[in-house]
Amino acid sequence: MRRRPFWLLPLRVRLLLMVVELTAVVLVVGEILLRGQELLELRVWMVGATLLVAAAVHAELSLGAERMRRRIAETRYIDLSSVWTFAAALALPAAAAAATVVAVYTHLYFRVFRPAGTPLHRQLYSTSTVVLAVYLVVALRELTGVHDDYASLTGFLTLVCCLLAYTATNTLLVVGVIRLSQPRSTFLAILAGGEIALEIATLSLGALVAVVALPEHWPLLALLIPPLLLLEQTTLVRQLENKADTDPKTGLLNADAWRARATRLLAAARRDRVAAGVLILDLDHFKVVNDRHGHLVGDAVLASVAEVLTAEVRGTDVVGRFGGEEFVVAMGTMKQDPAAGAAAVHEMCERIRHRVESLSVEVTSLQGAARIDRLSVSVGAAVQPGAGTELDRLLAAADEALYTAKRAGRNRVRIRGTGRSGPAR
Ligand code: GH3
Ligand code: MG
Ligand code: MG
Repeated sequence: MRRRPFWLLPLRVRLLLMVVELTAVVLVVGEILLRGQELLELRVWMVGATLLVAAAVHAELSLGAERMRRRIAETRYIDLSSVWTFAAALALPAAAAAATVVAVYTHLYFRVFRPAGTPLHRQLYSTSTVVLAVYLVVALRELTGVHDDYASLTGFLTLVCCLLAYTATNTLLVVGVIRLSQPRSTFLAILAGGEIALEIATLSLGALVAVVALPEHWPLLALLIPPLLLLEQTTLVRQLENKADTDPKTGLLNADAWRARATRLLAAARRDRVAAGVLILDLDHFKVVNDRHGHLVGDAVLASVAEVLTAEVRGTDVVGRFGGEEFVVAMGTMKQDPAAGAAAVHEMCERIRHRVESLSVEVTSLQGAARIDRLSVSVGAAVQPGAGTELDRLLAAADEALYTAKRAGRNRVRIRGTGRSGPAR
């Protein structure tokens, strides 16, 4: 759902968005009607205003880094403004905390998200998930009866539960919508992309804001700005490093990064005396997909094939996009016997070939919804040590094998270096 307009999202995604947003609105309106009195207290206004000013100063001081972070976020974008919104959930009645969230996010929308190209529907959804998280935190506080005494054991445990509930609500709702938009993406991959540690760090600071600084020690909030800015900078640097290794269309490693990691994998396999394989995969007649449905649909197919590859290989294997509709995989086998190693490589190639064959990609374009299937891939593989030990040698052998697979009629696997005499399989 990254840059797509609302009406081009799959129906199930649109439904989830509307249900979450509607629930948030119903909760806020219901609470204002039922418990409006609490919201009129001076303390509530003072704390809310303090948090808003702090959030606005923080956002203004980190505009450049945040716009860049937002722009390059691949899966989940962890929002450092949760320092203030989580503090609001701990220190305010739910509707007041929700109002603080809406104000903080509206400011961020105009200053950070919109300039970074975030569509409005995504902004509304993020705001709603945070509002729901706030309600869960307030419900937990009411359940345990802890309102501001966080120094007691019950208070501390409540705080920890609130932190977990807040992050779990956001994570599940955001991961849920990503899963619905990209059904093949794995939960863990999305979580790993989301930097859960960064979120925990931010929420811990938010807890300190609520417990230590609010309401009367509010000048302490100024001390929080420097560490927050530093956290933003270091996160940005890490994200830029990751981005430099990533192919933007598929999220796989780009050619340079793949070569570096594949070289390490092959060296490790040689050290452990186990067989390893290098695969080159080229989609068959891919030009036809582009010619028939356009390049954007072609790109969606490439992304789906990338998901298949990531799902089929082991976590330690290395998957990359070499360019065009050509993918590469370096895989370890854990087999010391060369023939068994070659068989493992062959089995993996066949599994991938079958998965691509049965792939059905649902696409929505301006022409409407369509389903792309009858795809196929040709696979050339080379096994270490039979076909060589240097990456370039193995790649050349795999490329030759790929060429043989294409000439033999496509949608098939050919392997070099299986250690058998006679023609390669
Ligand atoms: P073959 O079975 O021989 O591999 O046929 P093919 O059509 O797949 O092969 P060819 O190499 O002739 O064409 C590859 C096509 O892949 C050409 C180009 O339109 C398309 N392509 C390359 N890169 C991209 C990309 O990033 N996005 C999209 N959508 N298409 C791409
Ligand atoms: Mg090609
Ligand atoms: Mg091709």
